[in-house]
Amino acid sequence: MARPWNFSAGPSALPEPVLRQAAEEMLDWHGSGMSVMEMSHRGKHFVQICDEAEQDLRDLMAIPDEYAVLFMQGGATAENAIVPMNLINHRGTGAADYVLTGQWSVKSQKEACKYGDVAVAATSGVETVLDGKQQQPWTWVPPVDSWKVRKNAAYVHFCSNETIGGVEFTDWPTPAQLGADDVPLVVDASSHFLSRPLDISGTGMVYAGAQKNAGPAGVTVVMVRRDLIGHALPICPAAFDYANVAPEHSRFNTPPTFAIYIAGLVFKWIKAQGGVPALERANIAKAELLYGYLDSTAFYRNPVHAPVRSRMNVPFILSDESLNDAFLKGADEAGLTQLKGHKSVGGMRASIYNAVPMEAVQALVSYLKDFEQRHG
Ligand code: PMP
Repeated sequence: MARPWNFSAGPSALPEPVLRQAAEEMLDWHGSGMSVMEMSHRGKHFVQICDEAEQDLRDLMAIPDEYAVLFMQGGATAENAIVPMNLINHRGTGAADYVLTGQWSVKSQKEACKYGDVAVAATSGVETVLDGKQQQPWTWVPPVDSWKVRKNAAYVHFCSNETIGGVEFTDWPTPAQLGADDVPLVVDASSHFLSRPLDISGTGMVYAGAQKNAGPAGVTVVMVRRDLIGHALPICPAAFDYANVAPEHSRFNTPPTFAIYIAGLVFKWIKAQGGVPALERANIAKAELLYGYLDSTAFYRNPVHAPVRSRMNVPFILSDESLNDAFLKGADEAGLTQLKGHKSVGGMRASIYNAVPMEAVQALVSYLKDFEQRHG
C-alpha cells in the first residue's frame, strides 16, 4: 500500500514507526495480553504508560517541576473555556486580556467573554505597513510593545501559531517585556508545540491539542504553573478543574487512554530523532525549501509578513484562482493529499509538521514547479 504525502492541518500525519509499533502492540501490549484500549486507567500498565508519557514530555520540553502536565479531553476548543474557568479569577479580578492574530485567537477570546471581563490587548485584524509593504489583516503580529495589558488582568492570552493564517510567533514575549510582571502569559501552542524549542518557564500556562505534532485527536496537553491552580469558577465542571486533574496525574476520571498512549510513542520517537532541536533543524530546512520556491515565482503567493511566517502551516494562493481545482486534482494524482486551504480563506495550505519528512516537501515543490510549467 502506498501512503500519500499528507499535508493535513490536523488530524495530520503521524510518524510511520509509531503507527507500526501501535499495530504490533494492538492485541498484546508488552505481554499484558491486552490492547491498551482494554486496560483500566487505574491499572499498573496504563499508569506506567501515562507516567512515562508525562516524563518524556517533561524531558523534551524541559518542563520545570513547578508546572503540572495534564492530559485532558475536549481539544483546544474546550480548553478555550477551561482556561478562563480555571484562571480568570486567580487574582480575584475576573479579568483577562487577549491578543488577536487570526481565527484561533479570535475564537479563544470569544469563548472567554462568557466567563468574565475580557479585553483585546492587541490585534492584527487590520491592514498595516511593515518593512515598506502593505500587510493584510491577520498576516502579521502586533509588536509586544504595542500590547495594552491591564494591570488587573489575570492573564494575557495569545495563539503562538495561527494554523489557518500561517502566522507564527518566533519569540514568545516575557511578562517583563509586557511591563506587567504579575500577569502570566497563556499560550495556545496547538500547531507548533514540539516543532521548535519553546520556553514555557516564562509562561503561566501552555496548551495544545495533540493532533498535529503530538499524536491523535482526543487528548489536549496542558502545562500549567501550579501556583495558578485552585481558583476555578464555581461553574467549572469537576472534570475540567485543574485542581482535580493535577493531583490525580490526569486520572481524576477516565482520560483518553489510547490517545495518551500514542502521544507517548510520538514523544519517544521525537527523543530518538535527537529531541526537539533536531526536529527544529529539519523543520527549518523544510520551510526554507517551500517558502524559497513560493517566493521565487509570481505564480504562487504567501501573504504573511516574512519574519512571522509559520514553519508548520504554509498557506499559499495561485495567481490564477480558476486553476485551484486542477491544482488539487493533479496533486492528488501525484500522491500529495490535503492541500486545500481552510474553507474560510480558500487557496491552498501545506502543513509540514514534524512527521512530514523533507522528501514530502521535495515532492510538493517539484509538483508546484511542474504545475506552473504546464499552466503558467
Ligand atoms: N487552536 C489552534 C491553534 C488550532 O489549530 C486548533 C485546531 N486546528 C484549535 C485551537 C482547535 O482545536 P480542536 O479542534 O482540537 O478543538
